[in-house]
Formats: sequence, structure tokens, C-alpha cells
Amino acid sequence: MRLPRVKLHNQIIIGLLLGVFFGAIFSVNPYKISLKYKSGEEVVSYWSEIIFLKDSLPQITFNSNEQTQIIKYSKGFLTLPDKSQKNILIKYPDGTSKLYEDVTVIDKVKSIGVLLRPIGDIFIRLLNMIAIPLVLASLIVGAASLSDLKHVAKIGGKTIAFYFMTAIIAISAGLLISNILQPGYFMAVETKEKLLVAFQEEARSKIEQNVSINIIDFLVNIVPKNPFYAIANGEFLPIVFFSIMIGVFLTQIPQNKSQPVINFFEGISDALILMVNKIMYIAPYAVFTLISATVAEFGFNILQSLLLYSTTVIIGLIFITFIEYPALLKIFTNISIKDFFSTQKKVIAVAFSTSSSAATLPVTMEICEKNLGVPNKIASFVLPLGTTINMDGTALYQAVAAMFIAQVYGFDLSVTQQITIVITAVLAAIGTAPVPGIGLIMLIVILRSVGVPEEGIALIIGVDRLLDMCRTVPNVIADSLACVVIAKSEGELGPIILDN
Ligand code: ASP
Repeated sequence: MRLPRVKLHNQIIIGLLLGVFFGAIFSVNPYKISLKYKSGEEVVSYWSEIIFLKDSLPQITFNSNEQTQIIKYSKGFLTLPDKSQKNILIKYPDGTSKLYEDVTVIDKVKSIGVLLRPIGDIFIRLLNMIAIPLVLASLIVGAASLSDLKHVAKIGGKTIAFYFMTAIIAISAGLLISNILQPGYFMAVETKEKLLVAFQEEARSKIEQNVSINIIDFLVNIVPKNPFYAIANGEFLPIVFFSIMIGVFLTQIPQNKSQPVINFFEGISDALILMVNKIMYIAPYAVFTLISATVAEFGFNILQSLLLYSTTVIIGLIFITFIEYPALLKIFTNISIKDFFSTQKKVIAVAFSTSSSAATLPVTMEICEKNLGVPNKIASFVLPLGTTINMDGTALYQAVAAMFIAQVYGFDLSVTQQITIVITAVLAAIGTAPVPGIGLIMLIVILRSVGVPEEGIALIIGVDRLLDMCRTVPNVIADSLACVVIAKSEGELGPIILDN
């Protein structure tokens, strides 16, 4: 059931906007919580205070406008392995109160805004299903047409140099904006303490993942021990390496042997691209359900405490997307800014609603080849590489987050420390997998590098979902930009085609 006469990319944008409205209207009630406890279940509303008690001793008190914090805190508190009794005392505005003994679960009360989410989940899974085989097949075909390793190395070198440049600009912009707006200095001590306690469990579980950046290991791991393991685990760089090797060496064996293999992968790649095309017909509905569920579930009350921080990140993202990228587009290509962005509507909507550059990759590939005039051999190389190592939005966010946390803790980061942030954030963005939420985990490495307490990530976890959606957009736009810049520099950029 397609809406008549509305172009698909506009349908997707309409789906996105309607999703925001639907999610906002049918949002999860922020003043209601459901409790499971010793003697049953209950939905509680219109209360004023909730006190967590351990063996009758008060641990922490939350107000009725702190639903997100309550739920996050409860996840850690209620699952504490000790034998203590976990009770909850709820106070009402009329002065009455009720004690709930042996509470096991505290949750939001589900709303209709989140019920349709499975449609969106199927859409994300379909895109993820395509991403890996598409990279493999199209890169083998692409590398086979690049004719020799020297050519591959040249394009690879240019791509990496371009990505380094955009990442350094993004991180510097993030640092500059944070130095000007100083978002961390405005957070009240009480808010800080509450956030640290509420999100401590989630922060701890992320810190326990013990990530680190080791550039030598990173380089070594690009070479897969077993390409099938890399494929099964969605490790893009080893897959890129393996596909290039196969593609290049196919050209070195007799054509009667190589051609059937190349034709085989070309067939797979064409079929996958066609599949993406068809899947996009459900995109307006899928995007609607994803956005609606996110908006309906998002605890907007927490946004109040982190408004200045979130605004700082978003200003930075707007700067790189709408000032830096158009400037680079003008400098390196002759494509009109308006035309470029009009080809990116689908990419933006999918990236924003899925929060995943990897899930968006099949769409980016289709747009770069079909609309931006980038030949397959360049798109199939630059895009998977970009999806893995190029994360300007994430890098900018990490820089702002590191500055914010440092400011809240009262650390005045010196110029040298800020330069350390630039270096580690570039490396962290490279090492960040293109999946939702991973940027936050890599932030731990950056905090460590400048001596800011890593538990500080608890301060910003509450708005991470929202900012993840926003930062994934420049992450993917920069991939399309790199594609056209590299194609142009190779004299291989075809005409732009505005359709669908
Ligand atoms: N969600 C981001 C991406 O896939 C990564 C991150 O910043 O967490 O591009």
C-alpha cells in the first residue's frame, strides 16, 4: 500500500515525522510505574516520592519526575546478589504512603507507541542481513576491476587520509564548542549525584567490558585468521581485507577461471542491491514504528538535566553536517550542495531511525552508485571502509562528552590533555564498531587517557539513545561524501541522478 504520488524518500521523511508525533502522543506515561513484589503486581501513579529501602534502611529517594533514573537504578538495586530485603516505600501527595515488600521488578507501563516496534526490528534485521554479503560480493567485484594492488592502495590511502581529516575537524569542533558553552559547569551537584547513582550499574557493566585501543592489535586484526569467522561475526575490516585480496588475485589467474567467479559475485551483488530497493518500500512504515517507539519510551524528563550537554552535542553535529561537509563538497567536487543532500534523504532517515551505520550501509551503497554517480569499484571499497573507521559524529560526541564529564567533576583540561582527546578520539572512532551505542563504550578509553573518572559516563547514559540517533547521521553522510570526493579525484565521478 504505497501512498500515491509521493516520492519514496519523502514518504520515509513523512514516516519519520509522523513517528515522532505518534510516539509523543502515545508516549509512555512518565508518572506511572508498574511494580512486581511479594504479594502481586501493581501500577502506581500520582505519587510524589519513591524511597528504595534495603533491610528497612533508606538508600536513595527519587521524585515523581525521575522515571528513567528510577528504572535504571532499580535494575541494579533489585538484582543485588546479597540476601537483604529490597522494599520500596511510595509516598503520595496527600501525605499517605505504602510499603511494597520484596520488590523484584520496576518498569514503565507499555504504551501503544511501542507496540509496532517489531516491524522496525524486521526492517533493521533485513538491512543487517544484506550488509555483510553485499560488502563481500561487491568488494570482490570492485577489487577485481581495480586491476592491481597499487590502485587499491592508492584509493585506500586517499580514503583514510580523508577520513582522518574530517575526524580531526569534527573533534576539534566538539572541543571548541564545549570550551565556549562549558555545559558541565552548569550542572547542579545534586543532579550530578543522582545521575551517578541512578546509572551506576549500567556504567559499571560498560566499564567491565574493558575496551582499549591498541593500534598495533587493531592493524594485526585487520587480517582475518578465518574469513568465515569474520563474516559470521560481522567484522567489516577483515572482510574488506579478504574480499580485496580475492578480487585482486582473481585478476592474476586465467580469465576462463576468474570470470565465472566474478560473474557469480556480481550476480549476488546485483540481487542484493535489488533486494535493498524492494526493502525500502517498507521503510516509511518501519521508520515510523522505530521512531514512534523511541519517542514513546524516551524519558524526556532526563533531558531537562542534560539539556545543555545534549544541545552542545547537537550544535556540533549540525556544524559538521551542514557547514563542514558542504564546504568539503564544494572544495573537492562540483556537486551542488542541494542535490547532494537531496540524494541523502533516505540515508539520513534510515541512519537516524536505526542508529546504525552498518544497517544503513546497503542504502548508502545503493544511493552512491545509483544517484551520486560513484562507480561500483569505488563505492564498494570506500563505503565499507568508511562504515567501520569513519565516525565523525561519534568522534565529536566523544569529545564533547569527555569535556562535559571533566567539567562536571571540576577538572580543567589543559591544551595538552585536549590534544590527547583529539588523538584518542580519532583512534576510538576508528575502533568503534558501526552499531548502536558503541560510541559510549569507546568514550571510556578517552576518559582514561586524560585521567577523568570513567564512572562519569553514568552522567550521560540517560540521553545516549537520542544522541546516538543524531550522531549516526553525520557518520553515514561523511561516507557518501568521501565516496564522491574519491571518485572525483580519480576522474571517475558520473552525473548525479535525482529520482526515486
Ligand atoms: N551508532 C553509531 C553508528 O553506528 C556508533 C556510535 O556512535 O555509537 O554509526
